[in-house]
Amino acid sequence: MIEATAELRQQIHTWAIELGFDDLRVCDTDLSAYEAGYLEWMAQGHAGGMAYMGAHGLKRFRPETLIPGTQRILTVRKNYLPPDVAGPAHVLGTPDLGYISRYALGRDYHKVLRNQLQKLADRIQDTFGPFGYRAFVDSAPVYETGLAEKSGIGWKGKHSLVINREAGSWFFLGELFIDFPLPIDKPVTPHCGSCTACITICPTQAIVADGVVDARRCISYLTIESDEDIPIEFRVPMGNRIYGCDDCQLVCPWNRFASQAVDPDFRARHGLDAPDLLSLFAWDEHTFLQRTEGMAIRRIGWQRWLRNVSIALGNLLGSRPSAPQKVIEALNLRRGQVSDQLDRHIDWALAQSEEKAG
Ligand code: SF4
Ligand code: SF4
Repeated sequence: MIEATAELRQQIHTWAIELGFDDLRVCDTDLSAYEAGYLEWMAQGHAGGMAYMGAHGLKRFRPETLIPGTQRILTVRKNYLPPDVAGPAHVLGTPDLGYISRYALGRDYHKVLRNQLQKLADRIQDTFGPFGYRAFVDSAPVYETGLAEKSGIGWKGKHSLVINREAGSWFFLGELFIDFPLPIDKPVTPHCGSCTACITICPTQAIVADGVVDARRCISYLTIESDEDIPIEFRVPMGNRIYGCDDCQLVCPWNRFASQAVDPDFRARHGLDAPDLLSLFAWDEHTFLQRTEGMAIRRIGWQRWLRNVSIALGNLLGSRPSAPQKVIEALNLRRGQVSDQLDRHIDWALAQSEEKAG
């Protein structure tokens, strides 16, 4: 059994920073304080179609039942805001362009963080001997917001994301479950105060209470997780957001001085920080798979991608005094080619121009 001293904890922190994480904190496995709020969120239907969220029952609050023998959880955070990209305000204010959530512009973070967590475990093992562990990155059975809060990585903001006083909220989280009792860190106090900027700015009013997001209204869920038709009421508010939404983070005062990513893996690829919508809509499936190789975007698949872009094109048509003919032609060209679902979204998009004319 590894001797779990404060020196060892400090050594693990040093290695984590050397490996490319921006922080590492430690907590125990008692997440019982979060159970009631989560069950209420599920009961209200706020998880939308993410049925997998409930699949592990209360295991997400009892890590030692998910991975027997777990005594501590190391939570790491890693900044992802890509440097040298087009300003979000410019992209969101230019209807010909598509807005992609800043976290998705570089390499798939699941792979990056999992590799680094594995390296961290290897270093501990090589130096201090064998131990039991399991790495998780954005994994359904792990309540990572609670772990990040409990270990002092940050507090859960009213938009439900974790905020760090020095770094803001543009970071990924990952966890290493371990089977020895490393000294734990303290939680930090919340600092949202009386601010409600994220609640006010949300285009679809998805933040229904402090720290509670109704996924069924959230553009991130609708454009990434949901494979259903985008509900009509949210299509105009979506604007040109074609993959995720960052509005609640962009407005957050704690992100004014947020750190940028230094990891080259998170640099924006293929000009996707400010892509031309018509070019994206012209991609065939092969091009989609090729351009998004190694990126999280690829997970949604080509059809969902086109669905999202077609809505943005509809909003482009709705924004112009006279409809650009090439947009109408591009939409008509795709009709009947891919799926009934895409045709329904194309029809809606074309109607935005007609509605305006009428
Ligand atoms: S991601 Fe966008 S839609 Fe979702 S809660 Fe934040 S501002 Fe609202
Ligand atoms: S915008 Fe304001 S209320 Fe929302 S998370 Fe940031 S500080 Fe908290």
